[in-house]
Amino acid sequence: DKRVVLITGCSSGIGLSLAVRLASDPDKTFKVYATMRNLSKKERLLESMKGLHRDTLDILQMDVTDRQSILDARDRIVEKRINILVCNAGVGLMGPLEVQSLNSMRHILEVNLLGTIQTIQAFLPKMKAQSQGRILVTGSTGGLHGLPFNEVYCASKFAIEGACESLAILLQHFNIHVSLIECGPVNTDFLVNLQKTELGDTSLQQVDTQTLRLYEKYLQHCRSVFQNAAQDTEDIVKVFLDAIQSPSPAFRYFTSTTGAPVTQLKVTEPDESYISAMSKIIFSTEEQ
Ligand code: NAD
Repeated sequence: DKRVVLITGCSSGIGLSLAVRLASDPDKTFKVYATMRNLSKKERLLESMKGLHRDTLDILQMDVTDRQSILDARDRIVEKRINILVCNAGVGLMGPLEVQSLNSMRHILEVNLLGTIQTIQAFLPKMKAQSQGRILVTGSTGGLHGLPFNEVYCASKFAIEGACESLAILLQHFNIHVSLIECGPVNTDFLVNLQKTELGDTSLQQVDTQTLRLYEKYLQHCRSVFQNAAQDTEDIVKVFLDAIQSPSPAFRYFTSTTGAPVTQLKVTEPDESYISAMSKIIFSTEEQ
C-alpha cells in the first residue's frame, strides 16, 4: 500500500519541491495530496511534474486559516487515511515592530501558528485511531533564536516549537512521530511572499533614525546571507526524506550546519552571549 502524504503550501518553494519528489518516487511509494490556498497557482507544480507519472499526485485546495477548507480537503482523500502530514505553509513579516499593524501581525500568527495547529487538529483523530503516522513541520532557525526585525515571525515559529514538542511527548504513545525540519535561509519565494516594510515605505517616517540605520544594515545582511548561504529546496527535501524513511525519526532535523554555532550559543551560554553575538553578526560596524 502506498504511503498517503498531505502537504500544505505546495504552490511554491519547499512544499512544491517536496510534493514533486515524493510523487515522482521511482518506487511509487507515495500518494501525494499537494494542497495550496489558491488553485490558480497550480501550474508551476504541474509544470514541474511534466514527464513524470501523475497517478501519484492530487492537488487540493486548502487554506490553513480556513477550518472548513482543511476539513473539505481531508474528506477528499480517497484512501480515507493519511500516513504523513507535512505542515509547511508559512509567511514572513519583516520590519520595525512599531510600524506593524495588528492585522498583519494577526495574519502571520494565523497562518504560521494557528494554521499549523488546526491542520494537525483535523488529522489527529484519524492518525491516533490508526496508531500510526508522521507529522513533519517545516521549522525555522528563527524558531530557535531571535532575529531583529522579525519579532512576530520568530514568535510564531518559536510557538510552533512549543506546540510540536508538547505533541511529540503525547503522540509517542500512539506511534505517531513528530519531526521539525529546521531550515536556515532557503532559495524560495519566501522573500517575495513575505510582508516586508520597504525602506521607502511612508510608515517608516514615524521611526527613529537609529532604528532605520539598523534596519538598512539588517536588510543588507539578509540579502547577502540569502545570496551566499541559502540552500536549495532539493537540499531541504533530502532532509525531509531522511525523516520520512527513518524507522524512528528524530524530533529535530537541521538542514545545514552553518547556523549551528549561533544556535548552540543560544542553548549552552547565558542568553546575553547570543544576543551580543547576533548583534555583531548582523550590525557589525555599529557594535564593535
Ligand atoms: P514560499 O513562500 O515559497 O512557500 C510558502 C507557501 O505557503 C506558499 O506556497 C504560500 O502560498 C503558502 N501559504 C501562505 N499562506 C497560506 C495559507 N493561508 N494557506 C495555505 N498555504 C499558504 O516559501 P518557503 O520558503 O517554501 O516556505 C515554506 C516554509 O518554510 C514556511 O513555513 C517558512 O516559514 C519556512 N522557512 C523558510 C525559510 C526560507 O528562507 N525560505 C527559512 C526557514 C523556514
